[in-house]
Amino acid sequence: MKKLLSVLLLTIALSGCGARTDGAPVRRTVFAMDTVMNLAVYGEDAAEALDAAEAELARLDALLARDAETSAVSAYNRGEAPAVAELAALIGEAEEIAAATDGAFDPYLGAVLALWGFGGDDTHHVPSASELAAAPRLLDLGGIAKGFAGERVRGVLEAYRVRSAALDLGGDVAVFGSKPDGAPWRVAVRDPADEGAYLGVLETDGGVCVATSGVYERYFEENGVRYHHILDPKTGYPAESGLVSATVVCENGVWADALATACCVLGADGAFALRERLAGDIDFDLILVTDDGAVRWTCEGFVPKTGNGYVYEPAA
Ligand code: AMP
Ligand code: MG
Repeated sequence: MKKLLSVLLLTIALSGCGARTDGAPVRRTVFAMDTVMNLAVYGEDAAEALDAAEAELARLDALLARDAETSAVSAYNRGEAPAVAELAALIGEAEEIAAATDGAFDPYLGAVLALWGFGGDDTHHVPSASELAAAPRLLDLGGIAKGFAGERVRGVLEAYRVRSAALDLGGDVAVFGSKPDGAPWRVAVRDPADEGAYLGVLETDGGVCVATSGVYERYFEENGVRYHHILDPKTGYPAESGLVSATVVCENGVWADALATACCVLGADGAFALRERLAGDIDFDLILVTDDGAVRWTCEGFVPKTGNGYVYEPAA
C-alpha cells in the first residue's frame, strides 16, 4: 500500500517541473522503517548527498525500531537509559507533543500496540480488556519516527549543499528549498478510500512537511469488524473519531507527523480546536477526511480534486 502511495506522491510532487536551469533532480528509492521512501534531490553533490541520506535512514531505522532487539528504543524499554542523546531529545519532544495534545498522541503505547499485533509479529487479535488494562507503558515512536527522519535527512542534505529536495517518506512528505524552475511544489494528498487516487494537491513554496495519517494504513478484521492501528490512548482501542485521515502541514516534520496521528484520535472538531490552541507556538494547517465523505481543510494552497464524490468544505 505504502509503495503505491509513495510513487503517487512523488510523481505529483515533482510533476510540472518544466524547464529547469540546472537539470532534473537525482532520485533514490530507499526501503527503511517498513516503508518505501522516494528521495529527489537537486544540487551539484546530489548523488553523494543521497548516499549520506540513505545511510542516515538506515541508522535511524536501527535506532528507533520498537521490535528489533538491538534498537535503542528496545534497550530503553528494557529499562536502560537512552543510549544516544538524540533519542533522549526525541523522547522529550514526544512527551511535549503528548502534553500539547492532551494525551491524544501517546508515545508509550508500545505494549498495547503489541497486544493488538501492530508492529510486532503482526499476529493480530482483539485483546481482552484485562490484558489492555495490565499493559505496561512502553515506548513506541511509530507515530513520529518518519517525521524525525525527514528532519534528520534534511540536515544531512544541507551539509552537502543541497538547495532543494522532495522527500517522500511514505505518508510524510517534506519539501524544502525552491524548485529550480521557480514553480511551487505540488504535493498530492491521497484519497483514503483509494490508494491510487488523490483528494487534491497542496501547492507550496517549500519549507514544509505534509504528514498524513489514516486508519486505512494498517488494519485487520475479526468477526466482521475492522480494527486499525491508530489507538485512542484513553481506551486502548482503535480511535473512533469520525476521521478516516488527517493531513498536517507544518514547518516542523516531527510535529507534523505526531499531530497527524493525534488528529485521527481527536476527530475534526478536536483537531481544529487544537490548531487554534497551539497557534503562535506551533502553527499548522489541516486537511481532514471524515467517515461520511467530507473533506475539511484550512490551508490556502490546497486545490481539491473534483468529481470524486467527496464534499469539500473549507474550514471557516
Ligand atoms: P502514523 O502513521 O504516523 O499515524 O503512525 C501510526 C503509528 O503510531 C502506529 O503504527 C503506532 O506505532 C503509533 N500509534 C498508534 N496510535 C498512537 C497514538 N495515539 N499516539 C502515538 N502513537 C500512536
Ligand atoms: Mg504520525
